[in-house]
Amino acid sequence: SDKSNVYVNQLKHHIGKEVTLRGWVYNSRASGKIQFVILRDGTGLCQCIVEKASVPEELFDRIKHLGQESSLSLTGVVRADERSVGGHELAVTDAQIIAPAEGYPITPKAHGVDFLMRHRHLHFRSQRQWCIGKVRHTVVDAIRRFFNDNGFTLIDTPIFTTVVGEDQTSLFEVDYFGSPLHLTQTGQLYLESAAMSFGRVYCFGPTFRAEKSKTRRHLTEFWMVEPEVAFIDLPGLLELAENFVSYIVSRVLEDNRSELETLEADIGLLEKIQPPFYRLTYSEAVEILKGPKTVEFMARDLADLQSEKARTEVRIAELEQQQGGQIKQWQKDKIAAELIDLRSALAETETKIENNPKHAQLAAEFAWGKDLGGSDETIISRMHDKPVFVTHYPREAKAFYMKTDRADERVVENFDMLAPAGFGEIIGGSVREDDYDRLLAKIHEQGLSPETYNWYLDLRRYGSVPHGGFGLGVERTLAWITGEKHIRQCIPFPRMMDKVYI
Ligand code: ATP
Ligand code: MG
Ligand code: MG
Ligand code: MG
Repeated sequence: SDKSNVYVNQLKHHIGKEVTLRGWVYNSRASGKIQFVILRDGTGLCQCIVEKASVPEELFDRIKHLGQESSLSLTGVVRADERSVGGHELAVTDAQIIAPAEGYPITPKAHGVDFLMRHRHLHFRSQRQWCIGKVRHTVVDAIRRFFNDNGFTLIDTPIFTTVVGEDQTSLFEVDYFGSPLHLTQTGQLYLESAAMSFGRVYCFGPTFRAEKSKTRRHLTEFWMVEPEVAFIDLPGLLELAENFVSYIVSRVLEDNRSELETLEADIGLLEKIQPPFYRLTYSEAVEILKGPKTVEFMARDLADLQSEKARTEVRIAELEQQQGGQIKQWQKDKIAAELIDLRSALAETETKIENNPKHAQLAAEFAWGKDLGGSDETIISRMHDKPVFVTHYPREAKAFYMKTDRADERVVENFDMLAPAGFGEIIGGSVREDDYDRLLAKIHEQGLSPETYNWYLDLRRYGSVPHGGFGLGVERTLAWITGEKHIRQCIPFPRMMDKVYI
């Protein structure tokens, strides 16, 4: 009956009782008179044991031939078993096949990224994607909770926009009844007007940028949360940002420990994420990049990569040898799956080895005045075990709305937060230029049209106050926390420059 339907994550309350689980075959193997079906039901995995003696013979045979991802309901008695995935087992007494599946395309054999992206709608069912989805859910919840609990009001900003929030080269233009508009790159300018009404506000939604290069950290559609605060200075913003990121990480540690374990995330590193974070000025960061510390760091990194490469090659050779031996099919499948991971890890290490001298040279030749590039950010962030704020970038490298530092007019009062251990920028923020004349001059300087920004200039005409804010990218944050190598795994349906799959 319906009453005995339970979810896998409720099994601990039903030990010794008969219940029904409904889900999909994640994996199954037969061993003589016993079949092991790993059932996946959206809340977890459970090993279900079907003994030939306990079910009708006809059913036993049908279960035996069920393909991966067939849907079924299994009734049985719950047993606690520490060795089992999820810690429980179901001793099956009855079964109902809902819909058989045959030839499920994603099997434990080599699948390239392209294949998996084309099958994203199915790849979703993988453990890895499931875990990332769960962590994403927590991150989004933590984002809202943090601001709601700290006196911020949620203000939704438009997706069709007239203003250029970031840079003109990455705009997606849309034909809006015959006149051009663009998809939002940031809600910030609109949000500033809301900050003058509510004091502390945030917006949270999708953001669009026509990123024209292939990187592992740029999507063309990504989610960004942006707080904006009236009466705040740069130290105040840094404090807000470090409390915010620490809160997100602590929530994921609290709610998603088992997902982090499955994902092999660096839990030890995450546990250290607490204020205060490191603080560097841009000029200090440039000194580090051009100095002996970076030379030494890159040399050590190269040596580490080479020994990692050697270790991986040894392990691959071992597994290849085992694969040729007399072993069961399921053991072969397991080895095949491990080999896929190892070979892609090896390819990654080789790319890193190849890039090391290039990145070292870029750092050595860094010229004051440029924005930090991806590899520069990676070097700085890998030198730290907690996020690093880099502040006070050169004016020319940054957007028109950032406030010129009155103590050093070559720089602006801004910051980037670089995630530790190599993922680079996860937050960009600044104090906004609040002086009417300076803002107008900058609009001219950057070749923007003053008419378009007339409403924005009004915010400096009528009761201008010091204010600022920042934007945090959800997928970048998620990639950093989960240890994903590529940002495309951190959004359900990724959009990138080279291809939109489904
Ligand atoms: P980058 O220098 O890496 O291109 P940005 O400086 O252009 O980033 P901001 O305009 O400061 O980015 O946006 C705020 C945050 O939004 C970034 O710190 C990052 O977390 C995220 N973000 C920016 N661009 C992208 C993108 N194309 N895909 C995913 N996230 C992004
Ligand atoms: Mg950018
Ligand atoms: Mg940047
Ligand atoms: Mg930025």
